[in-house]
Amino acid sequence: MDPSSCFSASYREARARFLQVAAERHARVDSRVLPGIVGLEGEQLAMDVVRLGPAHARRMLILTSGTHGVEGFCGSAVQQVLLGDSTLHALLQKRDVAILFVHAINPYGFSYLSRTTEANVDLNRNCVDFAAPLPMNPAYDEVHDLLIPAAWPPSPDNEAAIRHYVETRGEWAYQQAVTTGQYTHPHGMFFGGHEPSWSTRTLRQLLEEYGDACESIGWIDFHTGLGPPGFGSKICVGTGGREELERARGWWGADVTSPLDGTSIAANVAGPVSEILRQTCPHAAKAAIAIEYGTVPLTDMLLMLRADVWVRHHPDAPEVLKASIRAQIRAAFLVEEDIWKGLIISQGQAAVWQAIDGLAGEARSGPACADPFES
Ligand SMILES: [Zn+2]
Repeated sequence: MDPSSCFSASYREARARFLQVAAERHARVDSRVLPGIVGLEGEQLAMDVVRLGPAHARRMLILTSGTHGVEGFCGSAVQQVLLGDSTLHALLQKRDVAILFVHAINPYGFSYLSRTTEANVDLNRNCVDFAAPLPMNPAYDEVHDLLIPAAWPPSPDNEAAIRHYVETRGEWAYQQAVTTGQYTHPHGMFFGGHEPSWSTRTLRQLLEEYGDACESIGWIDFHTGLGPPGFGSKICVGTGGREELERARGWWGADVTSPLDGTSIAANVAGPVSEILRQTCPHAAKAAIAIEYGTVPLTDMLLMLRADVWVRHHPDAPEVLKASIRAQIRAAFLVEEDIWKGLIISQGQAAVWQAIDGLAGEARSGPACADPFES
């Protein structure tokens, strides 16, 4: 299969293609529609779910795309390839493993070519306990006004001030200040929200319904935008601790990185979506990773993330400027080269087959996973 043919031009096209492949496989689609909001092209926005594999399989692999909206082009492409792969279907039967495809966790961001949700929430910062004191990020408070200037593109003075921060504090400190997450600036970058978002609540419902009685669950959440171009970094984040990290390395290899031992290229964030799995399925053996495919250099990416937030909060900006910024953001998260796309698909497939193998090796016991359509 030509990898390029699996990548869509828009959320609307990606969703249509995912539903088409599901229909060709005669797979039932469980669609959770985002209420009250339509997409950039006036389309319905939804999280679409397909469960494949034996109805009573006790082991389940979750594959999610679009947690960060515009990053969904890659995850959607991998999901389409796997959903249409008859070899994989046969393997699931043989290994007694199910796959839960969740297409477009954040359909708003996917459609509007933004990393965040309809409320500018970064879902990988949103799964915290909002009844408890929220994480503080004083370093972000310090740079917020610099990051989101009054006009776009940033003025030479603004660029010089950012450069001065990086030169005096270091690039890692800059990345940490910006990307760790913050709960004080709703119109800022990496905003974790003030309550669980629709996406977080919906994902929680899905895991309660589909994963409740599973004895072991794996999760691969597909992302783009960080690391070497085309390389898929496997990152284990959240509160799973050593046990989960060791299981993840057992399934996917010693190159699974983690903030636990300082090997991760990503910030050690509070409230990633994988926390939902830990909360809803506490008794299952778990291994959850994000695969982060590199695209453009970090400096360029951070500029595009600033532009993303700026355009979201300047709706009166000229249409030409807004369209130009959205096109630049899309290009920063999706490399339009066949070799790059081939690397995304092949590494995604490999990780899924490794996870199935890992799940199949877990001990069998306990009740079957629930398939809501079977009862
Ligand atoms: Zn991401």
